[in-house]
Amino acid sequence: MSMLLTNIVELVTNDPAHGDGLGIVPDAAVVVQAGRIAWTGPAVSAPSTDAAVDLGGRCVIPGFVDSHSHTVFAGDRAAEFAARMTGEPYTGGGIATTVAATRAASEDTLRARGQALVREMLAQGTTTVEIKSGYGQDVVTESRMLRIARELTPETTYLGAHTVPAEYADDRAGYLRLVTGPMLAACAPHARWVDVFCEPAAPTAFDEDESRAVLRAGLRAGLLARVHGNQLSAGPGVRLAVEVGAASVDHCTHLTDADVDALAGSWGSGPGPTAGGGGPGPGTVATLLPAVEFSTRSPYPDARRLLAAGVPVALATDCNPGSGYSSSMSFVVALAVREMRMSPAEALWSATAGGAAALRRDDVGHLRVGARADLTVLDAPSHTYLAYRPGVPLVSEVWKDGNRA
Ligand SMILES: [Zn+2]
Repeated sequence: MSMLLTNIVELVTNDPAHGDGLGIVPDAAVVVQAGRIAWTGPAVSAPSTDAAVDLGGRCVIPGFVDSHSHTVFAGDRAAEFAARMTGEPYTGGGIATTVAATRAASEDTLRARGQALVREMLAQGTTTVEIKSGYGQDVVTESRMLRIARELTPETTYLGAHTVPAEYADDRAGYLRLVTGPMLAACAPHARWVDVFCEPAAPTAFDEDESRAVLRAGLRAGLLARVHGNQLSAGPGVRLAVEVGAASVDHCTHLTDADVDALAGSWGSGPGPTAGGGGPGPGTVATLLPAVEFSTRSPYPDARRLLAAGVPVALATDCNPGSGYSSSMSFVVALAVREMRMSPAEALWSATAGGAAALRRDDVGHLRVGARADLTVLDAPSHTYLAYRPGVPLVSEVWKDGNRA
């Protein structure tokens, strides 16, 4: 059965066939069939279909692709956040409190929390989400987190090397053997990706050699690589990500010229996936997570420097209980526009097609013919309203695989 979605005042396709940038079609319609996009174009030239839905003059964008989240965990860290915001000392334990709560939680509790957060994301227009482990830091809990994440999304990431847990504080080599050995073996069947928090400036994170060992072990186990890098300092994370062929390096808050050159060079001489062309390629995307800088009151990454160098940029939430507990891609877009000087069009591209490139997916993040029919309907006349009306719930309905969610 074919379905016409019509009376769309502005349709964002990310399809170069409809023009540069976002491939915008005014006064548009979309035909959906068998869960895929079958046609897009001006409503006046729409083909006949079995059924039709009038979207009431709203704006339609591709569903957001949130390529970085930590949405399976237990407990919260609201007191830590309040202390940080008010400048009060806080000795609550940081990530260790989330690790303890996640280890102690039942599988049902973890699953219910994960399901609720993914539902919350979907209601805000996110139709593809990546979810990491990393709050178990033991074999049983890491593999439990990934089993649950796999029920929620195909984009699951093994992050046993999130931090070194307290019981291994004096035996980092022992923890690395666990992460690259039995823990990897238990987790790899439930994961598509391997990740590491590469940050020599943080004592419980991982240095360059440790990070390389984690990523290489994951690659040998058949996983694809992504990296947490350059969040707190201009460390080796970005260049390591490029070295191992990672799909994305995430945070990129502190970059050297050599880092920017390495990212641009990872796409070779051809164009990477940028607004107006290209698709997933072999290079490394720079994923920026400005909700973390917002929630930790830190300087934002320099998106313009990356864009000027031709580096594909993705935007994601990093939704997690410690450094940034927002699940809202609209909020991230607004931050990118206001605080990082991305244009509204650049920010939306990065929150959709950019996220898809960071996950090496060519079936989401755009509305070209053949794409998954994942659409977010905005109660607004244009995509600019995402940043122009921050904090306002503009998402009026969401379609996932051709069905109203
Ligand atoms: Zn993260």
